[in-house]
Amino acid sequence: MRVWAVANQKGGVGKTTTAIALAGLLADAGKRVVVVDLDPHGSMTSYFGHDPDSLQHSVFDLFLHKGNVPLGLPQQLLLSTSHPDIALLPASTALATLERQSPGQSGLGLVIGKSLAQLWEDYDHVLIDSPPLLGVLMVNALAASQQLVIPVQTEFLALKGLERMVSTLTMINRSRKQALPYCIVPTLFDRRTQASMRALRELHTSYPEHLWTGYIPVDTRLRDASRAGLTPSQYDGKSRAVLAYRALLKQLLSVQQASQVV
Ligand code: ADP
Ligand code: MG
Repeated sequence: MRVWAVANQKGGVGKTTTAIALAGLLADAGKRVVVVDLDPHGSMTSYFGHDPDSLQHSVFDLFLHKGNVPLGLPQQLLLSTSHPDIALLPASTALATLERQSPGQSGLGLVIGKSLAQLWEDYDHVLIDSPPLLGVLMVNALAASQQLVIPVQTEFLALKGLERMVSTLTMINRSRKQALPYCIVPTLFDRRTQASMRALRELHTSYPEHLWTGYIPVDTRLRDASRAGLTPSQYDGKSRAVLAYRALLKQLLSVQQASQVV
């Protein structure tokens, strides 16, 4: 099973969209996929038609056992989505209360990793949508993952948020056996604007080794897909953004193969 996190401490950069687009493409290819919503806002949960304000059970339940995860609980929490091969581990607004706790002191940093270990045999791929804050949930997302995708909006000041995310990663890498490979993905790219072009150039200069050489264009079909509650490829498999996400997925899969992480 492969586990990827999508994270950036900035909101509105395309994290949720990227996680769902990649999950959708993997599921289209016959993979059994789990998407995990670790953002207390619950956007991914809402995307698939579940209400994070009224859910009785959510990923939050996994954190209620002092760092242990009862056998079978992760499976019980899974909800269905618009795609038969994507299961959702939903967020609820209660998640916000966790952010105040320190993962080190409370032993809660590995809860998601332990939970996913229970899903190992039934699923091929997991995509985690991370919160925009550095707290126990972000630590869990990064600790559970073999690869990190960092969407960055190609606009003025994009690099500022990215610097913060990369230094968070450096900090978290100190407690990992192996540094977490990461891939920076330029999003919401509009070739007609100076700001997009400039941001892309800056990314190429500052992060040549970790930058995906493509970009995800601004594409209104993505918003339409989210309104319909469908993955972008279910909604329109030929849209420009879906073509770009397809190329990104190919790149991410090849990196994963090269690094031989299981
Ligand atoms: P985040 O999870 O980082 O907060 P989202 O994925 O929710 O960001 O994206 C924010 C908004 O931008 C959403 O309304 C989403 O539909 C839209 N969006 C994301 N990526 C694109 C894109 N490439 N083109 C157009 N709209 C996009
Ligand atoms: Mg989001």
